[in-house]
Amino acid sequence: MAAILPPAMLGILGGGQLGRMFVTAAKRMGYRVTVLDPDANAPAADFADVHLCAPFNDAAALQTLAASCAAVTTEFENVNADAMRQLAKSTRVSPSGDCVAIAQDRIAEKSWVRKAGLPTAPYLAIESVADIQVELEPYLPGILKTARLGYDGKGQVRVKTADEARAAYADLGGQACVLEKMLDLKLEVSAIVTRTSSAQVAVFPVSENIHKDGILDESIVPARIAPELAARVQQYAVKLAEALDYIGVLAVEFFVLGDDSLVVNEIAPRPHNSGHYTIDACVTDQYQQQVRAMCGLLPGKTDLLSPVVMVNLLGDVWREDGGEPLWDVLMEAPNAHLHLYGKKEARAGRKMGHFTVLAANVDDALDQARALKDTL
Ligand code: ADP
Ligand code: MG
Repeated sequence: MAAILPPAMLGILGGGQLGRMFVTAAKRMGYRVTVLDPDANAPAADFADVHLCAPFNDAAALQTLAASCAAVTTEFENVNADAMRQLAKSTRVSPSGDCVAIAQDRIAEKSWVRKAGLPTAPYLAIESVADIQVELEPYLPGILKTARLGYDGKGQVRVKTADEARAAYADLGGQACVLEKMLDLKLEVSAIVTRTSSAQVAVFPVSENIHKDGILDESIVPARIAPELAARVQQYAVKLAEALDYIGVLAVEFFVLGDDSLVVNEIAPRPHNSGHYTIDACVTDQYQQQVRAMCGLLPGKTDLLSPVVMVNLLGDVWREDGGEPLWDVLMEAPNAHLHLYGKKEARAGRKMGHFTVLAANVDDALDQARALKDTL
C-alpha cells in the first residue's frame, strides 16, 4: 500500500491527552487531523483542524471520518470495535478493530497472551455466576477485575477469601470479570512496540513504572533492571505484536517477579502513559510512531537520547479551589519539560499533565524530579 504523506487528513477516535499529543505530532509533520470526541472541551480539539463533536457511535460522524480521512486510528481501547471494522471498509484503520476488541476485554486479552506463548498471572475467567462456583484457592489472595472498562485501578477489588471474591463479584453486578492471583511484584515495567504495515517492528527502551493507588506516578528510563531482562521484556512485547498481527503502537505492561521472571499484565492498543518520556528523550516519539504506522511509513528509530524520568500530574496537585500549582521552579529548570493537557477542571486522580526531567543518569533525574514535584 502506498504511504500516506502530508498534508493528508488523518482521523483519530478520542480527544483526550493521548489524542492531543498525537495531533501535535501529526500537525508538526504537516498532516491535518480530524478528532472525533463528544466532549466540547476535549484536550485534542485545541490543536485539531476539525473536531467532530459527537458520540463515538454516531453514524454521520463516522461517515464523515471515513470519507474525509486517509487513515484513522484511536487513542483509547473502549471505542466500538465494530465501528472500527465498519470504518475499515472505506479507509485505512489501525490498529484493527479485532486487535482493539482483544485489548478491551481482559478475558480475551489474557487468553491471547497465553496463545502467544507468554505468561500471565494465574487467573480465572468469570463470564457468569457458575464460573465462580469452583475452587478459588489458586487465585487467592487475588484481585477481581471487571473484564471491560477498567482503567487507573478502577473496576478492581482486592479479595482474600472465596466468600469475599463471590461477594465482590455480586457487588460488581455480575458483569464478566477475571479473578487474578495477587503477585508479589519486584517491579513493574512496560515496553511499547511500533509495527507498521510493512511488518517492520521497532521497540522503545523499557520503562520502569511506579504506581500510586493503581495509577501510574513515575516512569524511569532506562529501567533499573539487568540488560538481559530488558531485552527479554522487549522480545516478549514484539512477540505479542506479531502474534496479533498488530499494526500501530502497542503498549505492553509487565510485572517482574522476585526471581526476575516476567508476567504480562495488560496491553493497550495505543500510545501509553509510560511512553510519554519518548517525546522529550527519544529520536522518534510514540505519537510520531502512531502517525508513521497508520500512514504505512517505516517506524522511526527509538534510541534513547538521555536518561529520563516522567512524573504524572494528577488533579490532586492543583489547589483546593482549582488554582494552578506553583509552576515557577519547574518552568525555570533547564532540563525539565512541562506538558499540560488543557483540561478545564482539576479533579482528584484526573491526569492533568506530566513533566520529564533529563539528566546524566536516572538516579539524578529521579531525585530532581521528586524535588521539583515538591515545589508545585
Ligand atoms: P488498569 O487497567 O487499571 O491499569 P491493571 O490490571 O494494570 O489495571 O492494574 C493496575 C495496577 O494494580 C497494576 O499496575 C499493579 O500495580 C496492580 N496489580 C494489578 N494486578 C495485580 C496482580 N495480579 N498482582 C499484584 N498487583 C497487581
Ligand atoms: Mg494497567
